[in-house]
Amino acid sequence: MRNLILPGLAALLAAACSSGPRPAEIAVIPQPARIVESEGFVKIGPDNVRTAVDTAMSNPEGYRLRVGDGGAEIVGGSDAGVFYGLQTLEQLRDSAGRAPQVTIEDAPRFRWRGMHLDVSRHFFPKEFVKRYLDILAYHKINTFHWHLTDGIGWRLQIDKYPLLTQKAAWRKVKDVKSPWIGLELSDESRRDSADTYGGYYTKDDVREIVAYARERHITVIPEIEMPGHSEAATFAYPEYACPTARPGSGIYCPGREETFGFLEGIIDEVVELFPDSPYIHIGGDEVGKEQWSACPLCQKRKREQGLKDEHELQSYFVHRMEEYINSKGKAMIGFDEILEGGLAPNATVMSWTGFEGGIKAANAGHDVVMVPLDYVYFDHYQGQNPCEPQAWGGFNGIRRVYSFDPVPPGIASENEHYVLGGQANIWTENIRTPEHVEYMLLPRLAALSEVLWTDTTARNWKRFEHKLDRQLDRYAAKGWNYAESAFTPYISDQHFGGDGSLTVQLATELDGYPVHYTLDGSVPTQESAVYTDSVIIREPATLTAVTFRNGKPAGCVLTVPGLLNRATRAKVSYATPYNAAYTGGGDTALVDNRYAFKRGDDKAWQGFEGTDMDVTLDLGSVQSLSGTGLRFLQHIASTSVMLPTRLTVWTSTDGKDFTVAADRAIEPNDDSEVLIEPFDVRFADSVEARYVRVKAANAGVLPEGHPRAGAPAWIFTDEIVVY
Ligand SMILES: [Zn+2]
Repeated sequence: MRNLILPGLAALLAAACSSGPRPAEIAVIPQPARIVESEGFVKIGPDNVRTAVDTAMSNPEGYRLRVGDGGAEIVGGSDAGVFYGLQTLEQLRDSAGRAPQVTIEDAPRFRWRGMHLDVSRHFFPKEFVKRYLDILAYHKINTFHWHLTDGIGWRLQIDKYPLLTQKAAWRKVKDVKSPWIGLELSDESRRDSADTYGGYYTKDDVREIVAYARERHITVIPEIEMPGHSEAATFAYPEYACPTARPGSGIYCPGREETFGFLEGIIDEVVELFPDSPYIHIGGDEVGKEQWSACPLCQKRKREQGLKDEHELQSYFVHRMEEYINSKGKAMIGFDEILEGGLAPNATVMSWTGFEGGIKAANAGHDVVMVPLDYVYFDHYQGQNPCEPQAWGGFNGIRRVYSFDPVPPGIASENEHYVLGGQANIWTENIRTPEHVEYMLLPRLAALSEVLWTDTTARNWKRFEHKLDRQLDRYAAKGWNYAESAFTPYISDQHFGGDGSLTVQLATELDGYPVHYTLDGSVPTQESAVYTDSVIIREPATLTAVTFRNGKPAGCVLTVPGLLNRATRAKVSYATPYNAAYTGGGDTALVDNRYAFKRGDDKAWQGFEGTDMDVTLDLGSVQSLSGTGLRFLQHIASTSVMLPTRLTVWTSTDGKDFTVAADRAIEPNDDSEVLIEPFDVRFADSVEARYVRVKAANAGVLPEGHPRAGAPAWIFTDEIVVY
């Protein structure tokens, strides 16, 4: 951990420690292009802020802001520029309403500064969407990508096709924790029953939201998914799916002419509802094309159009929809899969699977919006502590978000202007409440806003990290539910010394805050040891660590049990092999004192597919043993990883004759949340032994009701502790 001392910030740090009011230092996010500070402060109120528009300004979203003796003056290139100047002024003011005397000249780097929200997997009420827009506006985001339709919920009133909302805006809920699992849509008539979940936006709701966004200079881009992710729509109107597909199969049939009439009818009403949006987003991602291969109408269409495969059939579909959307005066945008089979001539590509699609499209002369999932998917984890709510996929901490550059190498310099900008996406499979959406959004949105607004030459992580401290206070004052994940310590490195000691290094995403730790398992206080550059552990320990901010714990407590236990670095032999894709690091994985995170894709897990885990540890000498501790992952919602059904432990002095020391059945847990379940397996009496055999019984073939019924269960484990 490095202490954060930057030139010019020392006074601020000193002030932050005093009990007096903080000075109104320049801590604006996103960072303005140019700041010239003067001496003194001016009280700013409604009476001494003057605004004007200067259309001669080169960027209509740019502004000049001057705080002087007479108050504040903002000149914008347009009303939007004035609005952004006012956002900056709000951040300049301290709690007493004073702003420093300053001159700021500012304009955004990108014109597409976007934020997305999936309201299909979970529905969010109109009032929350407006609050979400407030948060975006505060960060100078100007584009709201509204993901209105998907497989498990249609959220937009369409007069011509009323069944979309009558039949496909609600679903039956089996598991209140995960109403997105399974597709069992429910009729609107059941909307008020306890086992029914859902909702939709009326046309009046949409007009109200679009107007609210307009006042904040945010354009709402509607997304109507096609041809895939359309289970809800084809459930309501099966006549637009392939005749050979099962009901609610999720892909429109481009072999049927009437499918295009249906979608055009929807587009007509969407165009009318979103007059400000130059774009209609058609999704276009993750289209499984097997149904088209099996459909005689699709095959006929292929033959008639001379299309060589299903990719070209998709291209035909997208191309036709683009022509229609263009005829309505709108441009089409879609995810990078719309490149498959040849891109429609005027389409804009939203590159999500990585940068490659965007690079290809930009170099071919198409507009591009960069949304690479490894940087700006905010449904991914932002912390590595088990306290984090269940998230999707990988880890996109705030540092990673800040490192995102929408113009990657590979785009020829003369094509860079095709990159309109970038955005972050929030898919809501695991996000059920508005509070949870805010938690995933903040503070990562602060990093994103600086990436999209501020020129790379003015970007500086250290300065951003420091400004973020103020930004979190602003969030708190507004009542926004931000995450403190970036304060939570994690183990950044660990290694064994030749003397048998273990050296552990801790890190946090945000530096400059004291981390306190203990080695006896107790929760650290400010009186506990302060972490400096490493912790050297020489005897059995449970390491706990927590960060303090403003004298209070911030983020979660890191707890690492079983360091230097009797099994640490023991020789392990395997009666059943671990899977080659999930080695956890190999034969030492279960005794290396390294723990995995609660993600199915964390390579620190050791996996056993369809078999038991059955290992024998050689502790090197006969010792007096009292039990073992193990942990297993279960992740029903999106993997086949299940808890074992039974744990059995044998001991032996010679490695030949083994005696059962403990044996217990494990109650199945059908919780759909991802969970790491610890098991403390105590022996009835202490046992003298050198060898410990541990067997965890595999759950076998996944039962009916499991999302992957019929597949073999996996066991995931990461460490065996022996007392
Ligand atoms: Zn078809």
